[in-house]
Amino acid sequence: MPLIHIEQISKRYSNNFLALHPTTLTIDPCCFTVILGPSGAGKSTLLRTINGLEQPSTGKITVDGRQLTPDSMQRSRAKIGMVFQQFNLVGRLNVMTNVLTGCLYHRPWYTSLLYLFTKKDYELAHWALDRVGLTDKAWERADQLSGGQQQRVGIARALAQRPKVILADEPVASLDPVTSEEIMGLLLEICRNEQIAVVASLHQVNLAMRFADRIIGLNQGQVVFDDTPSALSSDMLQTVYQREDENFQMEMAH
Ligand code: ADP
Repeated sequence: MPLIHIEQISKRYSNNFLALHPTTLTIDPCCFTVILGPSGAGKSTLLRTINGLEQPSTGKITVDGRQLTPDSMQRSRAKIGMVFQQFNLVGRLNVMTNVLTGCLYHRPWYTSLLYLFTKKDYELAHWALDRVGLTDKAWERADQLSGGQQQRVGIARALAQRPKVILADEPVASLDPVTSEEIMGLLLEICRNEQIAVVASLHQVNLAMRFADRIIGLNQGQVVFDDTPSALSSDMLQTVYQREDENFQMEMAH
């Protein structure tokens, strides 16, 4: 059974721009999916719509058998860990506290206001930090860490949520190539060993080819490719990366 079912989801922003055309997709458990496409293709819009950060204009989303509605949102979101390009840590707080906030998804709202954590939360956070190789940084301020280390904290925070899927929105766009490889490797390892599905948006073809089980190619808000990396031919790659003005030029040439 698919973990996430996206049915005819579209997104039109308030300025009337249609960033995502009606799209139907399923995401399977334990699969490493890369959403590939140029800047502005709608990758972030798709990911943010799946976890409820954006309201879809049409369609419905089912997560682990439960339809995403304003009422079910909190429970469904707890199953979805999110990793961001800019890490979204609280820089003045230590690493441990940042990771602990991942546990709050399963809590009533007032405990999150008071930062009340249980012994079990600390055990989970320690496990998550160990999992990303940052146990020795637990009590350092988050903003003292390198970019790669901060992204590891972001991943540990997502893990502390005990999610079924991690959505990673351009997780390596702010990192150098070597660190990018390490972070992608870590996400793949987590996917395989913890049996957590990963859906990562990327604009780097080489990383998508190396790490993905499945690539979904987006162009101008539409899925133009959905298959394994080995099926992504150079012609197809051109379709994924085609720009609107190129379309226009091609039309003019005919
Ligand atoms: P990607 O993640 O592939 O770079 P995005 O999903 O961020 O693409 O954006 C897709 C398109 O939607 C872009 O043209 C972008 O300018 C537009 N867009 C994104 N957010 C908004 C918004 N809040 N209001 C209007 N347009 C937006």
